[in-house]
Amino acid sequence: METCRMELSREAALVIGKLNDSGYEAYAVGGCVRDFLLGLPPKDFDIATNAAPRAVKAIFRRTVDTGLQHGTVTVLIGNKTVEVTTYRIDGEYTDNRRPDGVTFTNELKDDLTRRDFTINAMAYHPAFGYVDYFGGAEDLAKGLIRGVGAPGERFREDALRMLRAVRFAAVLGFEIENETKAAVYENAHLISNISAERIRDEFLKILTSKNPEILNLLTDTRLLFYFLPPLQEYCEENIGRIINALSRCDKDVTLCLVIFFMYAQADTAEETLTALRLDNRTVKAVLTLKAWLDKPAPKDLYETRKALSIIGVRAFEQLVKLKETISGGDFSPSYEMLKSVRTKGDCFTLKNLAVNGTDLLELGINGKAVGETLNDLLDYVMKNPEDNVKQRLIARL
Ligand code: ATP
Ligand code: MG
Repeated sequence: METCRMELSREAALVIGKLNDSGYEAYAVGGCVRDFLLGLPPKDFDIATNAAPRAVKAIFRRTVDTGLQHGTVTVLIGNKTVEVTTYRIDGEYTDNRRPDGVTFTNELKDDLTRRDFTINAMAYHPAFGYVDYFGGAEDLAKGLIRGVGAPGERFREDALRMLRAVRFAAVLGFEIENETKAAVYENAHLISNISAERIRDEFLKILTSKNPEILNLLTDTRLLFYFLPPLQEYCEENIGRIINALSRCDKDVTLCLVIFFMYAQADTAEETLTALRLDNRTVKAVLTLKAWLDKPAPKDLYETRKALSIIGVRAFEQLVKLKETISGGDFSPSYEMLKSVRTKGDCFTLKNLAVNGTDLLELGINGKAVGETLNDLLDYVMKNPEDNVKQRLIARL
């Protein structure tokens, strides 16, 4: 491992160099080291240093106080940013969620010890190479998620780590090491102390990962039950079929959520999506697609235009893809019809109708009748696309 130099971004290398020049230690840490060793492009380079936040701010011209109380300062370089965090030890955890306080430390090892998994607890310096106190590189090679220290204790400090373990296993296709896994079974109930937003972020990553079969573990450990109680029984019954469909569908959040709720009641789905604090747009999209999933695919061009007028092009495409994934049937006629509607530019929205509200007002139609007439005309035009011509539509009136 000593031989493979980690490629740092120009900005990360610059930040490390400047901190070193000022007499401080500085290392790239966490996710970027893990991803690099896996041959994945690191998403961002986090830097850990023994310089106090105040010192970091004095060294760099442009900084943002991102999380000063946790020791994090964002350094701006050109149009890029690098997060610099002072080595720290987390204080007591009394709520299974967050440390009551943090103390800064001079030792990199202390900082690595507070991190969640061995694969996330490595550091790298361009001159000194890798720092790996807990066998992170070995676990990476073996494909193991292993807690740093006693996993049970670590999960009681911050219960989200259990869901992170499942998430990393899903995303990387790794196994959770036995003792760590046993600690998830033992402490699963503590996940109820964690905020919906933090749970949502991890859950969506699990759902859209390449290894949805890990959902079995969420069900078995009852982690799922402790954050989505109404779905425990549902998953025990349906998770096999859900995993099967998930493993064949595009890794799109909306699609994966539709599949996850495929066999659930609409109101259970809505309640759960809202409890997970998903944004309204996604909730609406999932519920719409879910409702359409049970209907037969549009059988002719009129039905295709009609569906497009209600759910739009993107959702239509997603829907057909989903139906295809789930049923394994041949949906090429649906794609053909969509293509035909689009290439011919057939009208399926009020916006593209050849007459508008003003035209109708000029003809003496007003009040509620305007909207109704427009919708009638749209329906007529979806049946007779060649008639989307102003004079013809007015003549009809
Ligand atoms: P990704 O960004 O790909 O989701 P990451 O490992 O970078 O993965 P982050 O949430 O960005 O994850 O956290 C950065 C690092 O901080 C992690 O690699 C880990 O060392 C540490 N970390 C994050 N969350 C926790 C936690 N709940 N408990 C302990 N350490 C954590
Ligand atoms: Mg990260």
